[in-house]
Amino acid sequence: MLDLLIIGAGPAGLMAAYEAKSAGLSYLVVEKGLIGNTIYKYPVGLTVFSTTNELEFSEGDLKPAREKPTREELLSYYVRFALDNALNVRTEELVLSVEETEPHIFTIKTDKDEYTAKNVLFAIGAMDHPRKLNVPGEDLPHVFDHFRETYPWVRKNALIVGGGNSAGEAALFLAQEGAETTLAIFRSDWENDDPKQGCIKYWVKEPLEQELRDHCLRLFFLGKVVEFRDGETVLESESGERVTLATDVVFVLIGSDADLTPLKRLGVRTEHGKYGEVPVYSEETFETNVPGIFVAGHFTNQRHIKGAIDAAKALVPILAASLH
Ligand SMILES: Cc1cc2nc3c(=O)[nH]c(=O)nc-3n(C[C@H](O)[C@H](O)[C@H](O)COP(=O)(O)OP(=O)(O)OC[C@H]3O[C@@H](n4cnc5c(N)ncnc54)[C@H](O)[C@@H]3O)c2cc1C
Repeated sequence: MLDLLIIGAGPAGLMAAYEAKSAGLSYLVVEKGLIGNTIYKYPVGLTVFSTTNELEFSEGDLKPAREKPTREELLSYYVRFALDNALNVRTEELVLSVEETEPHIFTIKTDKDEYTAKNVLFAIGAMDHPRKLNVPGEDLPHVFDHFRETYPWVRKNALIVGGGNSAGEAALFLAQEGAETTLAIFRSDWENDDPKQGCIKYWVKEPLEQELRDHCLRLFFLGKVVEFRDGETVLESESGERVTLATDVVFVLIGSDADLTPLKRLGVRTEHGKYGEVPVYSEETFETNVPGIFVAGHFTNQRHIKGAIDAAKALVPILAASLH
């Protein structure tokens, strides 16, 4: 019987594991991918937008070569943290269900094992279910819902559909590295410069504008995507005109969500938050309305790494005190 089972080995889950270990709890982290799986999936070579104090577990620990770390530096930092602290993490194991089999006792079934725990922390992030356009051809092999790297697409026709920072970054990387790049974007997203409304960050937007001036990038002001076909995409412009673009590769980068079904099955209430549906929880203890079920990180009201780490730091000592 574990005191705490943690689902997810992102920044929230790793911080919670460290705190659980420090508090002398019996705990386990179950991670369906790799340690820091979300960061592992960032574009290769990306420099993240946060500064070290917003990313590190303790002050002064993360030492990138430049002001902000790259994907590789950040991933290495999180992996080393788990290894150096000998955190109890099982990777490549998917949590399939969590059930309250007795009052305050949870049974967690994975694709490899079964566990019981007095408390469960969902630190599952919000990257696992990319949003879909739901148009014909979206399942074709050259249509991707994530962007990893540019080099396979040099001198190829690349289309990016999306209006946030991930779409902007992908367009920039592709244009800079020699792909024939088109960014299909709603005009309102291109003209949005409010960071609180998820705009393309200025250090991405400014070089994008430079690529436009240098004719390395094209903008297409989107009405809607009509269809993906082998080698081409049919788009409708904002004025309703149909256009067929030659496309060797398409990246549909329109956001992603967590799957809240396992929480709802447990009886956890949800509400409509700023970024979509979120679980209802105490901002102090991070416990939901189901005693023993906790939430932290990207799929709550905290979208960034600092919030994910701070939540885990705050909640485990409170939980540990309630167990002693
Ligand atoms: C390209 C990109 C750049 C970003 N840059 C920044 C930045 O500069 N600063 C910043 O603050 N944020 C940034 N973010 C957002 C940041 O990645 C998240 O805020 C952060 O990862 C949240 O940490 P987390 O621990 O809540 O979730 P995650 O890091 O997403 O971790 C959740 C983990 O849970 C695992 N998991 C999910 N379901 C299950 C299951 N059923 N069973 C087992 N394991 C499961 C996942 O595999 C994952 O490893 C960026 C995001 C992207 C995509």
